[in-house]
Amino acid sequence: MAFMKRKLGLTSKILIAMALGILVGLALRNLFPGSPFVQEYITDGVFNVVGTIFINCLKMLVVPLVFISLVCGTSSLSEPSKLGRLGGKTLAFYLLTTAVALVLAIFVAVLIHPGSNTLSTMGLAYDAKDAPSLAQVIINIVPTNPVKAMTDGNMLQIIIFAVIFGFAVAHVGEKGRRVAAVFEDLNEVIMRVVTLVMYLAPYGVFALMGKLALTLGLGTFGDVVKYFAVVLGVLLLHGFVVYPLLLKLFTGLNPITFLRKMRDAQLFAFSTASSNATLPVNMEVSEHRLGVDNRVASFTLPLGATINMDGTAIMQGVATVFIAQVYGINLSIQDYFSVVVTATLASIGTAGVPGVGLVMLAMVLKQVGLPVEGIALILGVDRLLDMVRTAVNITGDSVATLIVAKSEKSLNLKTYNDINAGKVSSFIPEAEEK
Ligand code: ASP
Repeated sequence: MAFMKRKLGLTSKILIAMALGILVGLALRNLFPGSPFVQEYITDGVFNVVGTIFINCLKMLVVPLVFISLVCGTSSLSEPSKLGRLGGKTLAFYLLTTAVALVLAIFVAVLIHPGSNTLSTMGLAYDAKDAPSLAQVIINIVPTNPVKAMTDGNMLQIIIFAVIFGFAVAHVGEKGRRVAAVFEDLNEVIMRVVTLVMYLAPYGVFALMGKLALTLGLGTFGDVVKYFAVVLGVLLLHGFVVYPLLLKLFTGLNPITFLRKMRDAQLFAFSTASSNATLPVNMEVSEHRLGVDNRVASFTLPLGATINMDGTAIMQGVATVFIAQVYGINLSIQDYFSVVVTATLASIGTAGVPGVGLVMLAMVLKQVGLPVEGIALILGVDRLLDMVRTAVNITGDSVATLIVAKSEKSLNLKTYNDINAGKVSSFIPEAEEK
């Protein structure tokens, strides 16, 4: 039977692992409800260990990858004006898409009106953390100690240091060229490590989904099902309609090719719920599958994983309107405007790790005078939404990267249009001799 012999691609393997994980998790949950054995040896045991090791493998690559790749990128951009232009365009695009996402989210939430005043808000409690001041946020962008920035995984600080370092490499002549060559070799090596870690994905995803199916509490689901549906709907609309339209409009590229090639990265984002952990995979996909030059991708993607969170902004927009509706508080046009501005800032401030978007929502609620306790209402369904919004977040980073790359003539159209380009197959690649 010929089809038995066909090797499954990575995407199919991840999808199968995902489904199996959910099935096994649900089966265990229903067959042995409340079993301490399952809890100790499966949920907190095998699933937890395998899932966490998989996420750790991805996270372990983030700091070296961002630093090495960005030094490579900036050292080959010798003119500061080019870097400035790249930065300006990227930021403008990130802000624009986030604002569009928010307007869409608020519009749909007002239209569909998911929150009814009859929902009980009694006994709700949510302990909101104080957000740091804007001045402190700006000061914190520049590291006092780059090594500490790396150990803390502070992405913006690493970006700043790598850009300055790479810029200096480009300006010290022959010696700089030698350093740049070392970084280019290192970049190849670390990218290969990314590919190796990607082979672990089916096992990691199986464990993560299994654990999720065993632990997810859906007790509060019934009450907030409308909220859940609205957020999900807007996320899908943004991911599958707005982004492809923007891509077509700004670059003329085929959006279907984009969506097909983004599948792996989206699945990683979905199962890890972390833009940061997905960064290595997204960089690999952008450079090798979509054909974006390292000079652009090494800059735009780490920046995007840190500050561009359209999916998070959508959740925050809908959540704010929903909470106002539940508490029977009317928001004025000025309030909505203020939600767009604060939620854009809040999504910038959201770190690319699971669940932070919900913490930052407190800032938006406070800004428009809504009760922060309202967050407790949506807590129960946030985990699932977090997974979907993270996939949207990283898709937004890639769309912006393609648009900026195309406008900077840093996109290899042949690679983009070749559906098999850079495909991670289901076998470990042989070492290449060049
Ligand atoms: N988990 C999201 C991300 O990593 C952030 C959030 O919305 O909580 O992109």
